[in-house]
This record gives sequence, structure tokens and C-alpha cells, in this order.
Amino acid sequence: MADAPATPPVMEQIVALAKRKGFIYPASDIYGGIRGFWDYGPLGVLLKNNIRDHWWNWMVECPPIGPDGEIVDMVGLDSAIIQHPKTWEASGHVAGFNDPMVDDKETKERFRADHLQAIFFLEPSPEMEIGKSYPVSADAPAADSIPHATVIASGPGEAASEIIANKAVRKLLGIKNVLSNMMVGASLGAPDYVTLWVESSRGNRYVYIRNIGQQFLAHGYEKTPSPYTAKAGALTEPRAFNLMLDTYPGPIRDESNKAYLRPETAQGIFLNFKNIVDTTRVKVPFGVAQIGKSFRNEVTPRNFIFRSREFEQMEMEFFCPPDDALKWYEFWKGERMKWWLSLGVEPSRLRFRDHDADELSHYSKATVDIEYRYPFTDPDYGELEGIAHRGSFDLTQHQEHSKQKLDYFDQELQLKLKEQGATPEEIKQRSRYIPNVIEPASGLTRAVLVLLCEAFTLDASRPSGVYLKFKPKFAPVKLGIFPLVAKDGMPEKARALYMELRTQFACEFDVKQSIGKRYARMDEIGTPFCVTIDGDTMSSDIVTIRDRDTQEQIKINISQVGEYVRERLK
Ligand code: ATP
Repeated sequence: MADAPATPPVMEQIVALAKRKGFIYPASDIYGGIRGFWDYGPLGVLLKNNIRDHWWNWMVECPPIGPDGEIVDMVGLDSAIIQHPKTWEASGHVAGFNDPMVDDKETKERFRADHLQAIFFLEPSPEMEIGKSYPVSADAPAADSIPHATVIASGPGEAASEIIANKAVRKLLGIKNVLSNMMVGASLGAPDYVTLWVESSRGNRYVYIRNIGQQFLAHGYEKTPSPYTAKAGALTEPRAFNLMLDTYPGPIRDESNKAYLRPETAQGIFLNFKNIVDTTRVKVPFGVAQIGKSFRNEVTPRNFIFRSREFEQMEMEFFCPPDDALKWYEFWKGERMKWWLSLGVEPSRLRFRDHDADELSHYSKATVDIEYRYPFTDPDYGELEGIAHRGSFDLTQHQEHSKQKLDYFDQELQLKLKEQGATPEEIKQRSRYIPNVIEPASGLTRAVLVLLCEAFTLDASRPSGVYLKFKPKFAPVKLGIFPLVAKDGMPEKARALYMELRTQFACEFDVKQSIGKRYARMDEIGTPFCVTIDGDTMSSDIVTIRDRDTQEQIKINISQVGEYVRERLK
């Protein structure tokens, strides 16, 4: 068996760096945090805003040219987080936005039935070989126990932090403190199981953890042992748990005043379809885009900011004639992937995943996810954005519930049909319709996570040991401006350069500590360039520019610094 890993798993390092450097803090940190909520610190908010602005620019200010070379009409919106409660009846969220939830009657722990995991132990022996299967003992037998597990790890490796963070799993393994008294290695196999190598107070062994959520739902709760105590019969029947957070606007707190914090930004767009058509010059096909906070009372928020209870979404609803919907679906699918690539994400870590027919929402004609290979899903992928062909479902629903007409008269189509010699009846029927909708819906806060994961680069050769390799455009700080030493007029000259450039892009002026320490600090927060004012600058206006990734230093005239950086931010 291989030696224990010297460093914590990569995801834990990213979370620690994000806090240490002021990107992301647990919300209410001084009170011990509040599960599923996060605060974006001074650097995190800059990173998030850079991604947000890029999306807004790409989608609204400068939308892509359409599939037939046409200009795409796109407008923005910022709708209220709380809308009329009927919105969520019409959208189906009141009735259908549910997860199956079960409780352990003894421990009062609560979790999602479809995320239930069973644990099997496999004692290591010298004869065991990777790729071969061996009998397992099931300390927590599942409804259908599995007799064999295949060894897919050769000892400690990268940990599956999501699994070891799971309280139930830790309890069964006898793990008290994940970081100090255990070592764990994991290999992910098929999406429904994971094999961990665990050294804990109960000895060393392989642990095979299998997602039995689906069997649980199929075989019933009576037979399934609690993941907390391994006792059968300890679980409650799964109950539908609505993911919407409710609130009571106004002074009276009763059911008739119940409203919801929006679980998605999309519905605000549908509610304003008529307003936008009536008050602006847009004509179908056109899109309405919105960025904002959404709230879901996720049963198990997890994986850092991947699944939180308060998060931000970037959504666009593209209204088009029903006959053209598939063409626009294909178009937005391609455009959205181009956008993710424009963030500098490594193409091999992105993929499309078409929803199977049984996964599609009842109203959707087609849906594809753009997925990313997160460190905690690797080698599998997790969702980043969904692109859905929603048909005319939403507008039809809101038309029915609000009793307002939400159809659209397509004058251009009317003329076209006339030219084609269609009958008056056909023209009348086809030129008035409820538009179909193509919806690219992505998570802004998930995009922040992706860029942190992408940028995180270990490098033992530099003093910081790690640097964040953001594409310069998205780096929170673009340029560090440093005098080599805090004397001989250098601080004044560096300050003058800072005063010149601070209005053009985010710069940091820093006089303190050795130049090596200042470079290291900039590496850790992902600043792509540093400029140093030294003796050469004092005598002949020559400065040194250091590149974060190559660590190369070149000399240029101080007057060219602004241009040098601007060129590289494009
Ligand atoms: P999932 O399957 O991960 O629960 P979903 O399919 O319910 O997501 P959508 O309703 O399609 O998600 O929302 C669009 C996007 O919003 C997702 O692709 C994701 O980026 C983001 N998102 C959804 N739920 C959360 C959450 N709880 N925390 C952070 N981002 C989220």
C-alpha cells in the first residue's frame, strides 16, 4: 500500500485558500457559520463581478449574431426576488419543486432519500490487486447487499471530501476528526459508488460506499438501515420537502400572506414578457436576460459553494416562433459552450450531457447540461448550466393563472404567409401564437467555483507553493505596483504610477516586505502582472514587469505599463 498523502485533498486546499485570501468566507463565521450560506469577501466579489460583467456583456450588450447572420434582440431585466405567490403555483414550483426527505427517528438527522449511502468494508490484504473483486462485509447492509467490491485504489490518494464530510459516514467509520487522525484515499468508480482507503481508529481498510438512494426509494424505508446507526426501521417514510423558502411580507403572519423567495430568476422574466413587448421595440425572436440571487432550501447543501441555499444565477429566456425553436436551441447550446471556454476553462474539463427522456421536465422538449469536472466529482462531471427547450409551457401557465393574454402577434410571419399564398384562415391561426422558449440557465456562484478550481495551481518551486492562474481579464487584481525598496524616491515614483493606472484597472500598491514576499502574495491571489520600480526606473524610467505564470521578468519603459496590461486583458 502506498504512503499517506502529505497534503490535504485539493478541494480542501481550495476552500482554505479561498478563506485565507478573502475570496469566500462561511456566512456568519463568528457565530460558527450557517449551513448553505457563504459571504464573498473583498477578492471574491471582484472575481464574481468580473464573471457577471462578462456574461452581461456577452449576452445583453453584445449578443452573438444569430444562426442566419441576423442581429439578435436582447434586453436585460432586474425583477423582484419576491413575486406574487401565484407565480409559483403557475410555474409548478408549489406542487412539484420537491426532494424526498427522510429523518432518523433516533438521532433526528435529516437527509435526502435519494442520496442515501450504504457502507461496506473490505479488509486489505497483500494479495489484493487493483481491478479484481473481493467479498465485502456489510456493516450496514443495504436492501440488496452486494457481495463483491472491486479494488480500484492502491491506498491513500485524493480524498473524496464530500463523502468524508458526510457525518453519517464518519460515524460508521469511527472517524472523529477528518484532518488529524485519519488518512483517506478515494477512487471514484461508477457514478453510484466510491471506494475509500481509510486509516482510522478502527484500523485500516478499504471502504466501499454505494449510493443506494434509488433502491431505498424502490424497496421501502422499513428495510433500509439508518446511515447514522446502521439500525433498520429507524428511518421515517420519505416526505416531499419543498425547496422554496417562504416569508410573510407585511404585518400579518398567516397563510394568506405567504410568499416565496424566488428559487430561480426565470419566472420574473416570464411575468414581464407582456410589459417588455408592450414597452420596448423588441420583436420575436428576442431574449430577456437577468442576473440575480435565488434561494433554495436544499436539504443537503454541500461541496463548498456548489450547492448552497442562497446563490446567484445568470438566466436568459429566448422567445421564438414555435417552428424555429429547435434551431435556436442548437444555436444557444453552441454559444453557451463558447462562453464557458471564453473564461479560460480547459476544454477537456467541460462536456455536454443530454437529458434522457425520463429526466426531462414534463414540459421540456429537450434539455442539455453543460458540465464541469470538479475536483469532488472527478472523474465524473457535475452541472454548471442547463439549456432547456421549454416549449410554450411557462407563458401558457401564466396566461391561465393570471387571465392575461400572453400570446404574440407576429406581423412578419403574417406577411411571409401571405406571400406564400396561405389561406386567410391559416394566416390567422399561425401568425398569433404563444412563443416557445429556449432557456440557458447557469449559476454565477458555480462559475466562481469553476474559476477557482481551474486557477488553483500547485507549484512547489515558488515561495507561495501555489498560485491562481486566472485568465487576466477575470483576476480580481490585475497589477501589483511595488517599489523595490522603501527609500531613494522609489515609493513616490511607484505611487505616481498607481495614481495614473488605478482608474483603468484594479491595481494594488504595496510598499511593505521583501519583493519576494510581495510577489508570493500576488501569486496566491492570482494577480497576473507585477511591476517593480527600481534603480533603473529612477535613472532611466525603465521598470520590471513580472509575469505570474512564467515568472519571467522583462524591462519596459514606465510609460508603456498601462498599454502592456490593457493589451493582455482583452
Ligand atoms: P441541480 O441538478 O444541481 O440541483 P438544477 O438542475 O436544479 O441543479 P437549475 O434549476 O437548472 O438547476 O438551475 C440552473 C443553474 O443554477 C444550475 O445549472 C446551477 O449552476 C445553478 N444552481 C442551481 N441550484 C443551485 C444551488 N443550490 N447552489 C448553487 N447553484 C445552483
